[in-house]
Amino acid sequence: MSRIAYVNGRYLPHARASVHVEDRGYQFGDGVYEVVLIHRGRLVDEDGHLDRLDRSLQEIRIAPPMARAPMRAVMREVIRRNRIEDGMIYMQVTRGVARRDHPFPKAAKPALVMTARALTPFDPATARTGVEAITIPDIRWKRCDIKTIGLLPNVLGKQQAREAGAYEAWLVAEDGTVTEGTSSNAWIVTREGELVTRNLSGAILGGITRRAILDLARAAGVRFAERAFTVAEAKAAREAFVSSATSLVKPVVRLDGQSIGNGHVGEITDRLIALYAAHMAGR
Ligand code: PMP
Repeated sequence: MSRIAYVNGRYLPHARASVHVEDRGYQFGDGVYEVVLIHRGRLVDEDGHLDRLDRSLQEIRIAPPMARAPMRAVMREVIRRNRIEDGMIYMQVTRGVARRDHPFPKAAKPALVMTARALTPFDPATARTGVEAITIPDIRWKRCDIKTIGLLPNVLGKQQAREAGAYEAWLVAEDGTVTEGTSSNAWIVTREGELVTRNLSGAILGGITRRAILDLARAAGVRFAERAFTVAEAKAAREAFVSSATSLVKPVVRLDGQSIGNGHVGEITDRLIALYAAHMAGR
């Protein structure tokens, strides 16, 4: 089946879907994006993602390309035209097309692009497979709370992880604390059984999955703290995992080649996978 992309008001065959060479996203990374998971035809945490898109746009002073209701309608149309039951939708807004010049252009209109693709449907057994992570220096800017398309440090970090045979790279600030993964939030369960993920600030992206997990943990009576943790603390942790819209709750069983806990998926991680699966299903 041929894929369809939405580009500034038009639905186009994927191969012919393109933007102008002077789109500011292409030239300056002047734009923001969102990824929403589609689980059994349902958009998971749609409102959270659209709220975060609005916030990212506001922070970099791009006007929303359209109101919330038509935005939702376009999302559904993209999903429908691509016949996605399980997959993801990617949405990107840039400052638009203008002659290359750093200041904001006066006339440019925000450019909106959406694509969707299928992903392997959620399977509890696969979800429980542990992965490896490495740690690398966090070389990013101080506004990682904005979901910008300028992802070069993340791309380089993820590539480094892949070349090391790892799933993710955890980014480490100059003070030795873990900020987050290149495309996920980082979590540990301490020796004392406390679930820990970094507090919100310019050092991390406020993950929508992170928010959902914290809400699920609270409802289930899991003790948690939102605070920074060091690499040393992570290596001494009982459990670790990463979270994102597409990784869900992904157990990390090795960090820099060292086993976390007993090297198997931990008890709290396991519980959170089950809770998150129910959350995705809308239960
Ligand atoms: N941090 C970074 C740097 C990310 O790219 C992502 C994935 N978009 C996340 C965290 C997780 O965010 P979410 O749970 O909203 O997918």
